[in-house]
Amino acid sequence: MATRLYTHPIFLEHITPPGHPERPDRLRALARALEGEAFSALDRVEAPAGDEATILYAHPAEFVARVRAAIPETGIARIDADTTASPKSWQAAVTAIGAANAAVDDVFEGRADNVFVAARPPGHHAEKTTAMGFCLFNNAAIAARHAQRKHGAERVAIVDWDVHHGNGTQDIFWDDPSVLYCSTHQMPLYPGTGAKNETGAGNIVNAPLSPGTGSDHFREAFLSRVLPAVHDFSPDLVIVSAGFDAHHRDPLAEIELTEDDFDWATGRLMELAGRHGGGKLVSLLEGGYDLQGLAYSAAAHVGRLMKG
Ligand code: ZN
Repeated sequence: MATRLYTHPIFLEHITPPGHPERPDRLRALARALEGEAFSALDRVEAPAGDEATILYAHPAEFVARVRAAIPETGIARIDADTTASPKSWQAAVTAIGAANAAVDDVFEGRADNVFVAARPPGHHAEKTTAMGFCLFNNAAIAARHAQRKHGAERVAIVDWDVHHGNGTQDIFWDDPSVLYCSTHQMPLYPGTGAKNETGAGNIVNAPLSPGTGSDHFREAFLSRVLPAVHDFSPDLVIVSAGFDAHHRDPLAEIELTEDDFDWATGRLMELAGRHGGGKLVSLLEGGYDLQGLAYSAAAHVGRLMKG
């Protein structure tokens, strides 16, 4: 087996306004970073069409219909202050979900050791009934529920190291102890949630980081809060909400990580996934807005996944 990579040309057709940080060039930079010899063993697969019915795993039908109605026939429609949709955004969003669900199928059915999904739009800010923060639907949450419904997973851990708190994922699983949600993120920062005392049904673990936090404090937070929670939870599957905007080059935040930190964090999660769930790990791209920081970080992350 190997590490599988899902992507799809449709992800480049979710168009955002000029100057918007969440732009198609992110995926182009990421693809170039994964072209080298070191990645020749990657199992590259085009993402399958998604099943729209699985959106309902995390969002009510009324909300899904509202997002669909907001997709414009031409131009760019504004959904909230910083979340927009273009004519192909629906297909991109559904394909991103299809890729995440297929990645779950792959690790449960033995087609891959682990999987990285390079898709957009991202998902972790999408709450049950609110599209926000560049996100339409919550890909990680849908994938977690897919693992439970289709593969009988009893416990799914979602680890989110995007520099922004995943308010959407927290919202969706707030009272669902079958899913553990752990997040490291800068605080204060958008979207404003993610304090330590937000604990849901005991299944939410927030590790907020002060602006200026570097490798040492990030790793300490990961070691002291995130990893013990995942270990105690004994998940059947680990899903990573892999944003790379905590990289020091990123323009949207003030956390000072390097690509080595993403390599390290990936390795620690792989160890835990191996101990509890037979190594099943699915990683979904979230943020990361400096093209070079994103490319280097994703390369370090995927390189570590491939080392098995
Ligand atoms: Zn982010």
